[in-house]
Amino acid sequence: MSADTQTTVGVIGLGSMGIGMAQTLASKGFRTLGFDLSEERRNLAAKSAIEPLDTIAAAFETSDFLVFSLPTAKDVAAVVNQHIDILQERDGTHIIIIDTSTSEPDVSRELASRLSTLGHGFLDAPVSGGPASAATGKLTMMIGGSDEDVAFARPVIEALSAKALHVGASGAGNVAKLVNNLLAAAHMITTGEALKLALAGGIDPEAALRVLNAASGKSMISEVHFPTWVMSDRFDSGFSMGLMRKDVRLASELAQSKGAELPMAELVAKLWAGSSNLEDSDDFTRMGAFKPSSK
Ligand code: NAD
Repeated sequence: MSADTQTTVGVIGLGSMGIGMAQTLASKGFRTLGFDLSEERRNLAAKSAIEPLDTIAAAFETSDFLVFSLPTAKDVAAVVNQHIDILQERDGTHIIIIDTSTSEPDVSRELASRLSTLGHGFLDAPVSGGPASAATGKLTMMIGGSDEDVAFARPVIEALSAKALHVGASGAGNVAKLVNNLLAAAHMITTGEALKLALAGGIDPEAALRVLNAASGKSMISEVHFPTWVMSDRFDSGFSMGLMRKDVRLASELAQSKGAELPMAELVAKLWAGSSNLEDSDDFTRMGAFKPSSK
């Protein structure tokens, strides 16, 4: 397909997740532009079929869809606000921003409303699955936004995800993601504690893990994360402590703002925030470390 008939997708943020998503889109026939603040990430992108850009403006000017993979809601809002003039000037050409960052529902609602008045679309479309799923188009995506925008963005959504769930109106995808990650954060702690108890009780933690993965204590954390990254002492899942701390804090703030009483979640938030031996740059799977020798 020639460049002028190909659908163009601009990926903003080429970190652990963004670069894999961009590579997936390029491999599935989309003309894929990429931008990251880090020159190192741009250079890495240039080694594959991604066209690296020197500015975000270039992506806003020429893309049919923009896929964001940025650390926080603040970054997402800043990127949109800094380029709002370009969106205003693109009259007649509809652009949809698919924001896969784990962002905040209120920020997504505000951006969706602003883009809608300019004739464009904004979907909060956070993802679950990690860098490996991003690189293979096997993410689970949870989407908030209008039916019309979801239908329009369907080719990009399907290229990136094995499962895409349209949860509700704008912000609903972010709420679903915070709910999911609160549970994953809790499972990381409780599974580590369970294996610590297994050790203390005199059984092999590997055997204990095999038991709980065949019984009712199982979760994705016990089934995937523990064997791959904790038992092996690899601790390199590609998702940082800092980002998970953000998710747990946002879930906790959401509960407080809505008056939902969640005593266990409060403790989970306290434990993630207070794990002072772990840096934000450490891998989040270190939170499940249960052996005395682990960091
Ligand atoms: P990351 O820190 O590896 O990557 C973020 C990238 O964004 C960095 O390369 C950074 O340089 C770039 N960046 C920051 N501000 C920018 C800007 N204004 N313009 C362009 N680039 C900018 O983070 P990640 O692990 O890839 O996560 C990205 C998002 O996806 C986060 O919101 C995270 O919570 C979420 N997420 C991560 C995972 C995971 O397993 N890593 C899984 C699901 C969701």
